[in-house]
Amino acid sequence: MADSTRRRLAVRLSLGIAALAAVCVVRAAVVSPPAFDPGPAPSLPAVDRDRVADDLAAAVAIPTISIPSGGEPAAFVALHALLRERFPRVHATLEVTPIHDHARLLRWRGRDPSARPIILTAHVDVVPVEPGTESSWTQPPFSGSRADGHVWGRGAMDDKLGVVGILTAVESLLAEGFTPSRDVWIGFGHDEEVGGAEGAIAIAAALEQRGVSAEFLLDEGGAIVSGTIPGIAAPIAFVGIAEKGHASLELTTEGEGGHSSMPPPDGAIDRLARALVRIEEHPMPASLRGPSEQMIDRLTSEQTFVAKLVLANRWMFGPVVRWILSRHPATNAIVRTTTAPTILEAGSADNVLAARARAVVNFRLLPGDTVASVEAHIVDVTEELGVTVRCAKKCWDPSPVSRTEGAAWDAVGRAILWTWPDAIVSPSLVVGATDARHYAAVADDIYRFLPLRMTDVDRKRLHGTDERIAIDDLHAAVRFYQALLVTTTGP
Ligand SMILES: [Zn+2]
Repeated sequence: MADSTRRRLAVRLSLGIAALAAVCVVRAAVVSPPAFDPGPAPSLPAVDRDRVADDLAAAVAIPTISIPSGGEPAAFVALHALLRERFPRVHATLEVTPIHDHARLLRWRGRDPSARPIILTAHVDVVPVEPGTESSWTQPPFSGSRADGHVWGRGAMDDKLGVVGILTAVESLLAEGFTPSRDVWIGFGHDEEVGGAEGAIAIAAALEQRGVSAEFLLDEGGAIVSGTIPGIAAPIAFVGIAEKGHASLELTTEGEGGHSSMPPPDGAIDRLARALVRIEEHPMPASLRGPSEQMIDRLTSEQTFVAKLVLANRWMFGPVVRWILSRHPATNAIVRTTTAPTILEAGSADNVLAARARAVVNFRLLPGDTVASVEAHIVDVTEELGVTVRCAKKCWDPSPVSRTEGAAWDAVGRAILWTWPDAIVSPSLVVGATDARHYAAVADDIYRFLPLRMTDVDRKRLHGTDERIAIDDLHAAVRFYQALLVTTTGP
């Protein structure tokens, strides 16, 4: 090649790189947070901090452990009696319908019966305290203690905060003579922690039977989280606009059994083990799409310039971004259908070949994947190993994705920003399961957000040891529910 040709090529290459760099820089520079002005906060009824802390503590002191997990029906009876006593206006004004004894559907009639209602939900059951950890609690888990500015105990966050928060907000508005412009339905399930079969599913069926088609529904799910995203100091209000699906697939292999002195190379255990390795080596592909993509888009505008350069130019850095997100379990969960072998069983004696081997692999499905597509993928990667694949017991597709524009989304955003003016409101994907998924037929949009400030440490308290809530945070949660009710059903 002549020197002049080489020089021309080098110049073209440099120009190309400079142009690409310029495009990346410009794209990063123009990323800005969405222009959203919540407007002036409305005046809200005063909340007696001491009173609401006392109400939550009393509710926590009643151990409403989900009945299939060992809870007593009497606890649920006692909790509902407590709520009747503590929230007299709610129980005198709203129509209260028991569902399957321990769940409740409440209707607060609005002035305009033709206007589309809204639905607020929470759950009254809690998970048990893991045996052996009781003594690690700073305050006994069901004492309902108030100490160090906190209410302590199982359910203080998940989800008696929701129950007491909603009821306190409604009670305070009733005390001021407030009547909502449209119907407000409130659903309290009693078995969320074990799937919601008798609670949320039945409440949703009752709503459907009454012809309810709500503009939106708010349930638990996301929260206000600080210090989890590198580069962002402000608290982020993660509002779940969808939740992942769930599939526990059972894999079985069969062999001839017999004495282990002359083993064949393809016994039941050998093939199942190989199948599990193949499944781990061929996970469902990572993909930044749907709610996770919307979240990254929203948070990109809050990032440092260097991070913006990468995140705003995913057309070029997409594989790098996906690789980075895949490296940590928490972010891996939002970019792919995750794979977790949870049960493995085979064999009965050390010198007998297993006639059957069984494994259960739990998948959490990214929106866009389905139970059928995951099953097809597993059948595909375990081909020729003689593995039978079927849904073990719980399999469901990801939820529909709710909108991040429109009146309902804006109302949730306003109520958040009025309560926590420094927060960043971001759509998100809920990676666990909530009752919300059962309500898809009765609400256009479903938002999953518990008005609770959390750090990484607090997150471990959920379903863990030392669950508690600061009384200031409890007060803020009530303000949030008041604000949401006023902005969506006010005059
Ligand atoms: Zn919960």
